[in-house]
Amino acid sequence: MSQAERVRKLKGELNTLVLGMGRVLDQLESIAQAADRLNSALDLQPVTVEPAPLARVPGLPAPPPGSIIPAIVAMTWLNQADEKSEKRTAYGQALTPGLGRTLVGVSLPARVPPGTTVSLRLRPDGEWLPNIPVVEVGPWSTRDPYWRTQSRPRAESLKGAPVVWNDDTDQWELSPMGERICNGAGIDVTPAVAARLTQKPVEPFYLVGATLSADLIVHEPAKEMLSPHFARYEAADDLPNALVPTARRLAEMVLEPMRAVVGPFTPVSWYRSEAHNAATPGASPTSAHLRAAAADVPRTAAFWRGVQALPKTGIRIYVETTHYHCALDDDPARQGIHWQTGVETKEWER
Ligand SMILES: [Zn+2]
Repeated sequence: MSQAERVRKLKGELNTLVLGMGRVLDQLESIAQAADRLNSALDLQPVTVEPAPLARVPGLPAPPPGSIIPAIVAMTWLNQADEKSEKRTAYGQALTPGLGRTLVGVSLPARVPPGTTVSLRLRPDGEWLPNIPVVEVGPWSTRDPYWRTQSRPRAESLKGAPVVWNDDTDQWELSPMGERICNGAGIDVTPAVAARLTQKPVEPFYLVGATLSADLIVHEPAKEMLSPHFARYEAADDLPNALVPTARRLAEMVLEPMRAVVGPFTPVSWYRSEAHNAATPGASPTSAHLRAAAADVPRTAAFWRGVQALPKTGIRIYVETTHYHCALDDDPARQGIHWQTGVETKEWER
């Protein structure tokens, strides 16, 4: 055998070996993933959970024509906290350990007014399950209120594609580097709801991750508006009546002018009660949020580009890690204070 033949043979053998090792590693990876899943399942210490009773309303009034959104992908999800975490839902409900397993509720991909409920029925022949409260924001987006326009969830256009979370748009976006594959879900349901919908005689926990096809009706109560585009519930579900005038002024004099130049946005934190403020990391004990006189807006480059076009009086913006704190410039408790929040701040402050 010539040297060249020997090298070729060796090359061939090495190639086979490398391919084989690749397959072994793939298998090891999937075994490790299965072990992780098993571990996280074991951490939960499964117990049998009776789904909380959902009142079936006899003779549920017929929904207004056109308000049924057919064949929405519903995913069963478990929102949970461990012993130490102080996790809250997007609507401020404290997540105690185990709550996610028994909670009756759904998650819609945009904030809804308090009191909003949904009705769901499993396709093709399920019965309507009414009065299910909305307890969280998601899946796949926090700003896709598709039910208000009777359109399809944006996630459906991403179904089967790799996606990553985008801080600028507050939703999962298409990316070849995506760490998750979008399942097209337009609503998440808790295991207790999935159990009711499917009528399956299994412990609800085992439904986590399952996707169902359901018809959906969203029942949103009329919104109390603070200004043409900002609703009272966006300031906070528990905004006291006495602070409505301040919240109104902030909406009209700060948020509306911003919206006019940057387009729609949703404040992430506006009014905070004493308890909520105390539980907010880094919040000042005299925060303007206690008076509903400031609203935090997600920090995006597009937002900043937009607000530069605003007049330089009347509005005070300063930069926090993940958001802009937007306040009235005439807030008496803040007069004369110069914010020290980093190099960029001086330039951005107004
Ligand atoms: Zn703030």
